[in-house]
Amino acid sequence: MALAHHGVLFLDELPEFQPRVLESLRQPMETGEAVVARVNYHVTYPARFQLVAAMNPCKCGYAGQPGHVCRSGPRCAADYQARISGPLLDRMDIQIELAAVKPSDLALPPPKEASEDVAKRVLIARQIQLNRFASLGKPDLRTNAEADGALLEEISRPDPAGLALLRDAADAMKLSARGYHRVLRVARTLADLDRREEVARIHIAEALSYRQKLSAFVAVA
Ligand SMILES: [Zn+2]
Repeated sequence: MALAHHGVLFLDELPEFQPRVLESLRQPMETGEAVVARVNYHVTYPARFQLVAAMNPCKCGYAGQPGHVCRSGPRCAADYQARISGPLLDRMDIQIELAAVKPSDLALPPPKEASEDVAKRVLIARQIQLNRFASLGKPDLRTNAEADGALLEEISRPDPAGLALLRDAADAMKLSARGYHRVLRVARTLADLDRREEVARIHIAEALSYRQKLSAFVAVA
């Protein structure tokens, strides 16, 4: 975690990590610091990283795919996904289910928007955030990820329709206070990518669509 400070920490096959290792991610994901505690001393390492994790939907890897039946039965996906605890999942801002790549997909034309174009959009959004924090007298903050709850609420007041959607969703999806702020943070960033000052309903809706995919998938599996 400390080695990934100001970078990306990529964990492949996430459920294969020991539960103790997975739970040790929780605190640094909140505070940006990793603490190693011993009897007589403790050491704090800076550990503000972007966590990217990948996993299969089940142990055998094909749950949910048409025509596939798990050898270990219908619990295969639920048991595998249960290895990722609710509190850890709650700290993941964006969850996306990807379909397996078919050989025929490789023959498709490249996407219309190239990676370089996406990088330009990201750079502009980051500059918008830098400028906003500087104008608020907080030049030490660089991205929305670093803004705490109170500041986040100040910089991302949704329009009335967005606020209504967020309140309804918070009840319906039983969002934790942390989850609520995380949705707001992603929505603020989506609005920045759109170069919009106000967080609109569409940004809230998109941010909500990225949450708790895993449990939704277990429900249908
Ligand atoms: Zn399976």
